[in-house]
Amino acid sequence: MSISVTNLTKVYGSQKAVDAISFSAEPGTILGFLGPNGAGKSTTMKMLTCFIPQTSGEATVSGFNISSQTLEVRRNIGYLPENNPLYQDLYVKESLGFTADVHKIDNKQRRINEVIGLVGLGNEQHKKIGQLSKGYRQRVGLAQAILHDPKVLILDEPTSGLDPNQLIDIRKLIQELGKDKTVVLSTHIMQEVEAVCNNVIIINKGRIVADDSLQQLREKQGGKSLEDIFISLTN
Ligand code: ADP
Repeated sequence: MSISVTNLTKVYGSQKAVDAISFSAEPGTILGFLGPNGAGKSTTMKMLTCFIPQTSGEATVSGFNISSQTLEVRRNIGYLPENNPLYQDLYVKESLGFTADVHKIDNKQRRINEVIGLVGLGNEQHKKIGQLSKGYRQRVGLAQAILHDPKVLILDEPTSGLDPNQLIDIRKLIQELGKDKTVVLSTHIMQEVEAVCNNVIIINKGRIVADDSLQQLREKQGGKSLEDIFISLTN
């Protein structure tokens, strides 16, 4: 298993933002992580990527423990955070250069050029981040996430704010990456889940209310649309 989560919990004050969730995912899976605003999606992603510590429970990424083996976890995971924070004043290649240094990537320029090609940043690679459209900034975020060729990708709303053409491009890229990696992506767009995900987890008020393949979830719910399933499980 490349992701294995057992009773993972995060408590803020008196609120259980994530309440004893357990799930797993293996390579070649694109897992849609769905839930209403405030359900605990970002908090889960931040724990898996070692940005915040869990209150209790356990998780491993590529076999490494998120609390005791954080360096190994970070080496094996790529993370596109919500709102994709980037330094606006840096040039695309400079920005990727910093990420490459953090990961101590050998043959840095070659890998940066390769990833620029992969995410379709070729024509924009000489611009500053602040000069890029939202779609291209998202590509820079994805490029940073995959630069060290991690086995697991955690993408927090990777297509939010993109226009329909950009959506198609980024989804294609995610599907391509998901062929041999494990991808967890959060989204509010049900069509996106139908277009790219094979498995679905629905989280509501910090708890998992569905964890299945997309096909089985639909069958179990009497062939309802994903949107109707989502509404009935999270109301
Ligand atoms: P989602 O990503 O599903 O929209 P979040 O994981 O961001 O949800 O938030 C889950 C819950 O935890 C929300 O009620 C949110 O207000 C709360 N929360 C998130 N971060 C913090 C924090 N740093 N301090 C206190 N509460 C927080």
